[in-house]
Amino acid sequence: MNDLQKRTWAEISLPNIRHNYEAIRASLPAGCRFLGVVKADAYGHGALPVARLLQEAGADYLAVSCLDEALELRHGGVTMPILILGHTPHEYTQTLIDYEITQTVSALAKAREYSAAATALGRTLKVHIKLDTGMSRLGFLCAGSYFAGGVDNVILSCALPGLDPEGVYTHFAVADEADAESEAYTRAQYRLFCDVINTVYEKGGVRFRLRHCANSGAVVSYPEMALDMVRPGLLLYGYGDRSGRLGLRPCMRLVTTVSTIKFYEPGTSISYGRRYETERRTRMGVLAVGYADGLPRAVSNRCSFAVAGGYAPQRGTICMDMCMADLSELPLAEVGSEVELFGEQNDIYQLSDAAGTIPYELLCSVSKRVPRVYIE
Ligand SMILES: *Cc1c(COP(=O)(O)O)cnc(C)c1O
Repeated sequence: MNDLQKRTWAEISLPNIRHNYEAIRASLPAGCRFLGVVKADAYGHGALPVARLLQEAGADYLAVSCLDEALELRHGGVTMPILILGHTPHEYTQTLIDYEITQTVSALAKAREYSAAATALGRTLKVHIKLDTGMSRLGFLCAGSYFAGGVDNVILSCALPGLDPEGVYTHFAVADEADAESEAYTRAQYRLFCDVINTVYEKGGVRFRLRHCANSGAVVSYPEMALDMVRPGLLLYGYGDRSGRLGLRPCMRLVTTVSTIKFYEPGTSISYGRRYETERRTRMGVLAVGYADGLPRAVSNRCSFAVAGGYAPQRGTICMDMCMADLSELPLAEVGSEVELFGEQNDIYQLSDAAGTIPYELLCSVSKRVPRVYIE
C-alpha cells in the first residue's frame, strides 16, 4: 500500500494465525487431523496467504464454500486437499477431478449425478458424505423417522461407481452455546452422527477414513468429539474461545485514519438524518471509514474506537465512506492519527454486540476496497 494514500486497512498477523493453528493443534488428541476452514476469503483474512501458511505449517485439509474459492487456491499453488462444503453443479465434475478437489455430497440424487458424470469420464471423484443431524441445512436427512432411509441412501451413494467416499461429516447448530439445552442438543447430534456411521458400516460395510464434526465451538467445548479430524474456522482467526482455554490471538486489526478535525458549538447536528447533536463544544474527527468498508451502519452512535491512548465515541450516522468520532477527550489525536475499529485495543465483540451480530459477520464484511496488510 502506498503510505501516502493511507486511508483504511486491515492489518493481518500471519504469526498470530500460525500461533492459533499450533495452539489448536496442541489441544487435539494424538493422530487427529486438522482441517482449516478458509471459506469467504478466510473470513476476510485472505484465503491464499492463510492457505499457504496452513499448508506450510502442516495442516491436513482445507475447506471452502464453493468451486471458485477452491480454484483460487489451486491457481495460487496450494496443493493440499481441499473440501468444498457447499453445492457444486454436477456439470463441474471434471473440473473437480482435474483439480483434485473433494466435493461434499448431501443427497442421493446428487451422488447419482456426480457418479454419472465421473463414470462418463472414466474417472473418480473424491467425496465426503454430509449428514444433517440437526442443523437442518445441507445433508442427508437421518434424524428420527428418517434414520433407516438416511442410512440406506448413504450406503447406496457410497456404492456408486466413480465416487470415492473418503469422509463423512456433520455440522453442529449450537456447539458454541454454553447453556444446558444447547449442550444436550449438541450431544444428541453427535450421538446420531456416530449411530449413522456405525449402522452404515454394519449394514453396508462402508468404512470412512475421515469422520469429522468439530467446528470451533466443539473444538473448545467438546474435545471428545474430535474423531479423525477437526474443522475450525473462527478459532484460527483468534475468536470463539471466550474462556481463553486455548490462549488464541486475534489476527486482524481494522484500522482507519483521521481525515480532518473540526470544532462544533453545542447543538450542532452531525451527519445524515441529524441523529446526533453536540451537547458541548466538540472536537470532532472525520474518519476515513464507512459502511462500504465494512463498518456496519447499524452501530451508528453505538460504538467507540481506540485512538491516541483512549476511546473516541462514534457520533452521527455512519456514511458510506466516512464517519465521525468525538476526539474532545483525546488531545493526542490529530489529522492522520490511526484509529483502531477492532483489534488488540478494541475488542471486536464490542462492535459485533453493538451491531447485533457476531464477529464472523464483521470479519467477512471487511470489503474489497480495504487493503490487507500482512505482518510477517
Ligand atoms: C463454516 C463452517 C465451519 C467452521 O465454523 P467455525 O464456527 O468458524 O469453526 C465448519 N464446518 C462447516 C460445514 C462450515 O460451514
